[in-house]
Amino acid sequence: RAKARGGGQHCLFNDDLATEYNDKIETERALTEAVQQGQLQVALQPQLSLVTGEIVGAEALLRWNHPREGLRMPNTFIPIAERTGLIAEIGDWVIGEVAMMLGNWHREGFHHRVSFNVSPRQLDRADFFGRLRQAFSDHNVPLSMIELEFTESAAMEASEAVMAEISALRADGAKIALDDFGTGYSNLARLRSMPLDRVKLDPTLIDQVESNEKARVIVQAIVQLIKGVGCEIVAEAVENSAQADLLRAMGVDTVQGFAFGSPMYEREYRALITHSSGAAAQSVA
Ligand code: C2E
Ligand code: MG
Ligand code: MG
Ligand code: MG
Repeated sequence: RAKARGGGQHCLFNDDLATEYNDKIETERALTEAVQQGQLQVALQPQLSLVTGEIVGAEALLRWNHPREGLRMPNTFIPIAERTGLIAEIGDWVIGEVAMMLGNWHREGFHHRVSFNVSPRQLDRADFFGRLRQAFSDHNVPLSMIELEFTESAAMEASEAVMAEISALRADGAKIALDDFGTGYSNLARLRSMPLDRVKLDPTLIDQVESNEKARVIVQAIVQLIKGVGCEIVAEAVENSAQADLLRAMGVDTVQGFAFGSPMYEREYRALITHSSGAAAQSVA
C-alpha cells in the first residue's frame, strides 16, 4: 500500500500498482485454497488427425471454478502461479488427475493420448520425473498414453540431467512436444538436439495463414523444416475449415482448435468420441 510519507519522498507504489499488487496477493492466496478445496478442473481439447479425420487425443487444460468469480482461465492465474512457484504443486495435481483419468480409460480399452503442459518450475523440483512415473504406474497407465508439452524457454533452460530424463520417458513410450513454436526464438539447433516427437505451431502463425501470402510462405517453410528433422506438426487454434484445408495441403498432421472442439470436461469428451456425429459438446473454452 502506498502510504503518504513526508514531503518530497518517492512513493514505491502508485494506486494502480498497489491494486495490481493486491490482486496478485489475493490470487495467490485464493489459488492455494483452490488446490486444497477442489476448485481446479482439467478440461480436454480434442486433437484431430488431418490424415484420418479422427480425433486421436486431447490436451489437458486447467480450469478454475472460482467460488465467487466463476470460471477463470489459465492466463489469469498461471503466470502468477509461475512467479510464486505454486505452479509446481498445481502441476503435480494436474498429473495426478490425468493419471487417474487415463487409468480408467485404459481399463475400459479407450486408448486416446492426453497431452499436458509442464512448466519449467516443475522441472526445478527434485525428483519431478520420479513422481511423474509413479503417478502413472500407480494407475497402470502405459506411458504411450501421455505426451508432455514444454515451451521453448523451458527447453532452453533444461539441464542435461533433465534432457536425459525426457529422453528416458520417450524411450518408454511417452511423446514429447514443443509448445508455442513460432513465438520465441524458434531455435533451430534446439529442434535438432532435443528429444522431440511433435512441434505445436503457435496461434499467431495460424492466424493469418488464409489472408496473408507472406504468412502462408512462412508457415510452409516452418512446416517443411520441422518435418525435415522428423517431427510431426500440430497446428493450434485452428478456427475454421478453410485454415484446416490449407494446413493439410502444407503437410500439417494434426489440428487443435475451436473448429474441431473447444476445451470440454471429460464427460463431454467421452460423449463426443462415442457419438462422433452427435451434437456439439458444451465447451469450457
Ligand atoms: P497452450 O498450452 O498453448 O494451450 C492452448 C490454448 O489455446 C488454450 O488456452 C486453448 O483453449 C486455446 N485455444 C484452443 N483452440 C483455440 C482456437 O481455435 N482459437 C484460439 N484463439 N485459442 C484456442 P487456455 O486453456 O486458456 O490455456 C492457456 C495457456 O495456459 C496454455 O497454453 C498453457 O500455456 C497454460 N496452461 C493451461 N493449463 C496448464 C497446466 O495444466 N499447466 C501449465 N503449466 N500451464 C497450463
Ligand atoms: Mg500446451
Ligand atoms: Mg500452445
Ligand atoms: Mg501456451
